[in-house]
Amino acid sequence: MAIYEKLMGNPFVDAGVCGICEWLGRSVQPEQITTDDLEKVVAEVVPIMQPFDKKRPQAHGWRNWVSIFTTNHPLTNPSKKGDRAADFKEMLLSHITNAENLGQSGDCVGCGRRDANTWLFRTGVPLTGSGTLRNFFPTFAEGVGYCAACALAIQLSPLVFAASGGRFLMLHSNSWKALRTWSRKCLGDVRAQQLQQEVTGCFNPGYANPRNGLFYMTQEMVQFQEMRPDEDASMQFYCFTNFGQKPELEIFHLPAPVFRFLRFAYQSEFKTDWGKIILSGYLVNWTKVKTEEDYKNRINRVYENLLEGRSILGFFLNRRARKPRGNWELLSLYLKEVRTMEKSRLEKIKQVGDLIAECIRKSGRDRRLLQLERAKSYEACRNVLLYIIRERIRQGSPEPLFSLDDYVEHLFPEIDDFAATPWRETRDLLLFRIYEMLHNWLQEQGFVDFDEDNASDADDASETEPTEEN
Ligand SMILES: [Zn+2]
Repeated sequence: MAIYEKLMGNPFVDAGVCGICEWLGRSVQPEQITTDDLEKVVAEVVPIMQPFDKKRPQAHGWRNWVSIFTTNHPLTNPSKKGDRAADFKEMLLSHITNAENLGQSGDCVGCGRRDANTWLFRTGVPLTGSGTLRNFFPTFAEGVGYCAACALAIQLSPLVFAASGGRFLMLHSNSWKALRTWSRKCLGDVRAQQLQQEVTGCFNPGYANPRNGLFYMTQEMVQFQEMRPDEDASMQFYCFTNFGQKPELEIFHLPAPVFRFLRFAYQSEFKTDWGKIILSGYLVNWTKVKTEEDYKNRINRVYENLLEGRSILGFFLNRRARKPRGNWELLSLYLKEVRTMEKSRLEKIKQVGDLIAECIRKSGRDRRLLQLERAKSYEACRNVLLYIIRERIRQGSPEPLFSLDDYVEHLFPEIDDFAATPWRETRDLLLFRIYEMLHNWLQEQGFVDFDEDNASDADDASETEPTEEN
């Protein structure tokens, strides 16, 4: 039996085990780890984890310990005058000595496969039981029992935290590959700090806004080859601090379909367009932006909507410039993967959008387009379609705009709650397709007032309507 295995279920333990594996090598799996390996990791890692001490010459060192393990940990103990790293190493080696192989069952809350032989408080596990302070401990106990092997993994988990404005982001997932790629990114940075002999602490990509930070991390993760699109990785991001009187915890959930879509969106063929869609989600005055630092921590509504299960369809439309962001293919990927829209519905809407575009072009005016853009209710939207049907008859178009079946099945499918008829979604999809087909023509004809050369493609917040379906 091994000491560890993949995905034992406790986020801190899994993070630590993943960090240990990555430190030992890209192909090392938890089941292979021996006590010799653990001693090697401790010997190599403890010098890097030496806490920052301004009294030391050429002071550098890990700065985050107080926010991770509070002030009575060997690495942070203020009354301790000697070598804190040596005390830390002693603690880790004693955990290794007491680490047993996995058994069938046990009462350790980390693995459930060994009995607990170490009682840990919030100095040993972030956010775990301290008696009088507000905390996140189970069953009102002052601490919780872990086995030595899990206690060791937790101590090494900060190697794979990403700092986020005084807090830390930690990933947990049903996908071991996702955990590995996240860990590789964090640990790669720690190794680089070591090489440059300028250790500062946990990987810090500079995102104080944890939502934006976690999307930055997903973008980095999909660059690793392991993350193939067929893997279903749902992810929980724990954003926490264990600092003194003010411990905090916020949990973000990224569903598997969203991550699957992101893997397409970050691919080279869609990357530029997806970048434009992301930029349009920031609440920021673009005329005042000089560098990425001016907006990277601002609220991004595309990210927020993706995390909260709300539609981002509206961000695919640049209404002022009457131009799509991205193409129909990228939009279809989003609608199919994340919104589970049926392919037949998408194809019908695309076909109707093409016919409307043709009708508008033949008319030589943008009147119908303007009416569709301004439709504020299901009835108004339906009336515009009726005008277009009449106009097409006048133009002598042989085929109908759509059949009655198309109308009730694909354009405005009936759902139980009439108030929630997805007319706005259908209208936005039609507009997207019309813009895609007609943008250049609209510009040539002078039907676009907004001059893109004078402003960022990412326009202001006011033009994007609420994106709820009703
Ligand atoms: Zn355990």
